[in-house]
This record gives sequence, structure tokens and C-alpha cells, in this order.
Amino acid sequence: MANPLYDTLFGRHAGQTTPFLITADEKTITHDAFLKMAARFANVLSGLGLTAGDRVAVQVEKSAGSLAIYAACAQAGFVFLPLNTAYTADEVSYFVENSGARVFVCDGAKRTALEPVAAACNAMLETLNADGSGTLSDKAAGQPDVFDTVERSADDLAAFLYTSGTTGRSKGAMLTQGNLLSNAETLVEHWRFTKDDVLLHALPIFHTHGLFVATNVCLHCGAAMIFLPKFDQDAIVHFMPRATTMMGVPTFYTRLLSDARFTPELTRHMRLFVSGSAPLLADTHVQFEQRTGHRILERYGMTETNMNTSNPYDGERRAGTVGFPLPGVELKITNPATGATLPDGEIGQIEVRGPNVFKGYWQMPEKTREELREDGFFITGDLGVIDPDGYVQIVGRNKDLIISGGYNIYPKEVELVLDDQPGILESAVIGVPHPDFGETVVGVVVPETGATPDLDAIAAAISTSLARFKHPRKLVIADELPRNTMGKVQKNILRDQYKDAFS
Ligand code: ATP
Ligand code: MG
Repeated sequence: MANPLYDTLFGRHAGQTTPFLITADEKTITHDAFLKMAARFANVLSGLGLTAGDRVAVQVEKSAGSLAIYAACAQAGFVFLPLNTAYTADEVSYFVENSGARVFVCDGAKRTALEPVAAACNAMLETLNADGSGTLSDKAAGQPDVFDTVERSADDLAAFLYTSGTTGRSKGAMLTQGNLLSNAETLVEHWRFTKDDVLLHALPIFHTHGLFVATNVCLHCGAAMIFLPKFDQDAIVHFMPRATTMMGVPTFYTRLLSDARFTPELTRHMRLFVSGSAPLLADTHVQFEQRTGHRILERYGMTETNMNTSNPYDGERRAGTVGFPLPGVELKITNPATGATLPDGEIGQIEVRGPNVFKGYWQMPEKTREELREDGFFITGDLGVIDPDGYVQIVGRNKDLIISGGYNIYPKEVELVLDDQPGILESAVIGVPHPDFGETVVGVVVPETGATPDLDAIAAAISTSLARFKHPRKLVIADELPRNTMGKVQKNILRDQYKDAFS
């Protein structure tokens, strides 16, 4: 019986003793061993009474076991729902309840705190610990290591992946088997992945970047992954000589650049470094090339769509851009008010359409209608512009757009000017309430190590390069910008912090 996701990513490796995961403690888990673990889990879960389409919520540490739950769900037709390990019991309660999960797998250490959550949501509770122990593995130990793959079609749901919650409450994106597969196929080809690749994997697997982009690509082509529990510089330096590629968020790259052990020798054999999930500063791109000779390949995607654009593998990887729409993905820039397509060179909202675009938000029909057009275009919530060579540039999020005295201000434009000032490492520009202008601009700047930027000099410099209405009315220095686990700047926190600056 056919099950496109399982057959294409997992089933194809049945019986293969090729390496799939290399763990931080130097253990190798073969494709075959991984599939057997997944089949045992599938037996346990279906033994609990779950049937195709049921949701399995999972909040566990990254491990071979937690990844095997994903494979088990694919094989048995359950909807896989991974959750950020940082979420508190209250937060988890929203996701388990909202998704109607029948089973919730948590870390054994959190069992006592999460038992009431599972009970209140009528979900069965199982545990899986980072070391592989737990009630799920106990039950799996006595199970057969084969499972009859449940028939599914490309249109069936494979996962609910909740968005990062950067702009508001997380939304559950319903992703089909076809959504995931089409993107994996495209990326393997676009980024030239083969079974000879070894991906250095230090991303979390509750997010699209580490779970779908990285893992599905490797499964699709039979590549191995050095599967590290988290980004740890010592481990990265230790394992890099055995890898061929790495995918990371921008903070991975800035941290590596601050490490003297990160030398050209260490990266010489590497084939590809990919960045995404948050904007990579052009400066980081340049410094990385100066240090290693590699040009980081930046791409752009999101929970709802997987990947939409990518810089080219062979052509110019242009710093500060996210490249071109991927094959099969249509991208247009539209007027937020009318939805009309804008000519290249004009800033507007980014809309995308393709086989990668999700089915809608779980139990949010209105939100789905607002953002997913009937003709299949998804309004991403990002603002962007297409340059004369066709490269897409992200200007920021629609929700971060500042409207001051009737003028639109794109934070990115101001941030780029601030970033260029002496002694400034990076910046975040936000809009805060203002009695006269509705909103006005606040610039939060982070100094380079040891520098004490002269805010008056910066304000003066800005006045020569930006129109007056764009000038920050307040500049403040911060040690660092608030970021979430994916390295995204949390502007909502900054807006909250400075909301009374002009009241
Ligand atoms: P929420 O939708 O809940 O507010 P979120 O949009 O941050 O959260 P994700 O789906 O994890 O949740 O992130 C997708 C967003 O990340 C994109 O819409 C875009 O704003 C940003 N992003 C991803 N890649 C890049 C990139 N290369 N450059 C700039 N921004 C990026
Ligand atoms: Mg989003």
C-alpha cells in the first residue's frame, strides 16, 4: 500500500545498514536500526488505539528516539506535532488542547508537571528521555520491529507544525505529505545533496528548519547526519572535519566567527553552509567568506510553506538577499491594501504559491481565509522587494512596519544605516506609540565588544542619510537583542519595553 511520505523518506532505506545518525557520544545508528525503532514506536502508538489522522504531540529533547516518533507517525498515518522544548506547562496545555492530540509524549523529568495538562486534554501521556529511556521505549521493547505501513495519499496531513509565535500566538500549520515531499525533493536537487553527504545538525527538531529542511533532505537522498542535541561550539569544532555541509540560523555563524578555532582548515572540505530562519547580516556573510572562503547560502521559508526561495548553488550568492523562488514556487510582491502585483523594485507583501504551501491553520478558519487566498497564494506576512537581477530581499515583517504621521517606515532600512555606524554590532528598529504621529521610531543598538558608541554622533550621521520622518526619535544601547531559540529578534518584547517612551 502506498504512503508517499513514508515510502519516499523512510521505507526506501529498509534493510540498509548505511549510517543515518551519528550522535554526540559517537554512536552510529543505521537506517535499518532507525526504521526498526520507528516501527516499534508505531506498534506502541497504534496499540494505544490511535488511528490514521490522530495527532501525536511531542515535547522531548532532540534524540534519535524523538526523530523516530516522526517516522512512526509517517508510517502509521498519525499527524506529528513537535513542540518547542522551552514551552512551559501552561503553553503546552494550549497546544495539546488546541490540536486535540490523543497522545502526548514528554520528557520523564516533566511528567509530574505535565500529567494534569494531559489529563485535562484527554490525552494519553507517555515519556521519552534524551537517553532513550521512558515509558514509550519500555513499551516498544516488546514490540515487533516491523509495522504494516498505513496507506496515505499526498493530500493527507503529515504534521501540525506551530509557528514560532514571533508576531502573536503560535498557529498550527497543517502540512500534508505532499507539502513536505515536494520541498524535500526540490531542495535535494537545488542544493545538490547526495548519499555521500554528512550534515552537521545542531538545530532543534521542533521547528521546520531542523525537522523538515535538514532531516527530510537527508532522508530523501540517504545522507547521514551528525545529530547534536544543541549548538555547542566545542562539538561543532570537533565534528566539522567529518561533515560536508551544515545548516544553521544566523547566530550559529556569528558565534563561529567569534571562535578562533574556526579556521579555513576546519572548513576546507565543507561543501555548503546554509543559513535561514532569520536575516543573516550582510556583514556576517562577508566576514564568513573572508575567514573561510565559503559563501553562506541564504534561503527563506516558514512553517506554513517550508522553503520558498534560495540563493543559487552555482551562481552568485548575494549577501542580504534570499535568492530566487525555488523551482515550482511562484512568488510575487503585492500591494498590501489591494493585493495587486507590484513591479519589481517596489516594496510590498510577499505572496507565494506552490505544492509546498500548507492546507491552512488548524481550527482557525478566519485566519486561514485572511492569509491563504482562494487562488492558492499565501500572504506570508513578510515585506520584500525584487531587485533588478531577480534576487528577493526581505525588508521585514508586515507587523513590524512603522506608520508615523502617515508615512511608512521599513525598519530594515533604518537598521542597515545604524548597523553601519562605528562601534555598532547590530540594531533593531521598532515603532512605539506617539501622541502626535501615532507611532514613532525607536532604535535599539548593540555595541561591538568593547565599543562605546556615541549616540549623538550616530543621530547626526543618520540625519544625512535618511529622510527626517525615518529618524529614530530615541536611540538606546542594549547589551543584546532579545531572540528566541531560532535566533529571531523578538520585536514584540522591545515594543513592550519602550511602549511608554513618548507617553
Ligand atoms: P509567527 O508566524 O508565529 O509570528 P514566525 O513567522 O517567526 O512566527 P516561523 O515560521 O518559524 O515563525 O518563521 C518564519 C519567518 O522567519 C518568515 O516569515 C520570515 O519573517 C523569517 N525568515 C525566515 N528565513 C528568513 C531569512 N532568510 N531572512 C529573513 N527572514 C527570514
Ligand atoms: Mg509567521
